[in-house]
Amino acid sequence: MTLVQFHFINPPHCSRCFKAGIDGICSDCHFWEEEEGIIIKHQAVFTYNEAMEDYFSRYKFMGDYRLRKAFSHHFKKEKDYTLVPVPISEKRLQERGFNQVLGFIDHLHFAPLLEKEEGLSQHTLSRNKRLQNKNTFTLKAKVKLPKKVLLVDDVYTTGRTLQHAIAVLKEAGVQDVKSFSLCR
Ligand SMILES: [Zn+2]
Repeated sequence: MTLVQFHFINPPHCSRCFKAGIDGICSDCHFWEEEEGIIIKHQAVFTYNEAMEDYFSRYKFMGDYRLRKAFSHHFKKEKDYTLVPVPISEKRLQERGFNQVLGFIDHLHFAPLLEKEEGLSQHTLSRNKRLQNKNTFTLKAKVKLPKKVLLVDDVYTTGRTLQHAIAVLKEAGVQDVKSFSLCR
């Protein structure tokens, strides 16, 4: 372990996505509004720094499932909102043995409404970047849809993954979707 500390996101942060050190609205959130007409409604707890990178490599890639306990108490239910985890593909699940997001919320009541197909290989992506925008999330068959969803993920980077998942839920008829991640 390095001695770099975990950093809580304190104000100022982007008012929409919690990106640290931003007064007002960050460039990612401006992009979402201008290009896609989307107003981000996201909250996060920690900055994704070196200490977090280190933590996630132990937790996700070295497969130490016990490490979920270090941060699981930051994941909470919100009144009237159904907690929905961002899924990983079947292939990832086989490789890793667990969905790291489910690990964080296994003490809470949640609804796994979404599924994810495997994305395209890096080789294919470099040949056609537009395919990067393909939405690989789908709604599971025969699920009961809640009115309000709090979508949870581990790390928010550009927000694209979450927006894909949100789009599926909204198209299916969920009225209000906001999101949460441990890191931003
Ligand atoms: Zn932002």
